Amino acid sequence: MIKDSQNSSENVETPLNKSENDNQCSECNQIITLWCRSCISKRFQQDFDKWTSGNERIDEFIQGSKLEAINNYNVMEWVPYNRLRNVQYFAKGCSGTIYYAIWLDGNIQTWNNKEQNWERRTDPLKELDHENAKKVGFKSPLKENENRGCRVTLENLKDSSKIHKVFLNKVSFSL
Ligand SMILES: [Zn+2]
Repeated sequence: MIKDSQNSSENVETPLNKSENDNQCSECNQIITLWCRSCISKRFQQDFDKWTSGNERIDEFIQGSKLEAINNYNVMEWVPYNRLRNVQYFAKGCSGTIYYAIWLDGNIQTWNNKEQNWERRTDPLKELDHENAKKVGFKSPLKENENRGCRVTLENLKDSSKIHKVFLNKVSFSL
């Protein structure tokens, strides 16, 4: 599970799934402020069979958070490890090991009705990221043609296979 580690405020005021010239949702024409919760949760629901964590409890938890999301900062996603690059050890935390990584896809901003796809936020990667990819200690190295991504912090939890309700409540509270 990943939450964007760069909570920059630059996109906070960006209108999300608004039609171009007004405050209406481009799908249902409802007047919206930033995010059309009803249309977006329907889109999330349509994608539920396209991913799985392999753990029913985690899947339900992520699905629930998606249906309840009131804006793009509340969206939790399951990210397969093969979408992460330059995974680098950072430190031992109190509940597990912390790593830095680049997530190739970036977090969801909104649904793009015209392109019928999710709009995601990624930033251009640097030459240094490609140099780092060649170093020992960087797992899942960045490939030459990969030029955009989103920097994230990962925590590898002890016994995460035995994930329980208290832990999921803790995650939910921190959203
Ligand atoms: Zn709508």
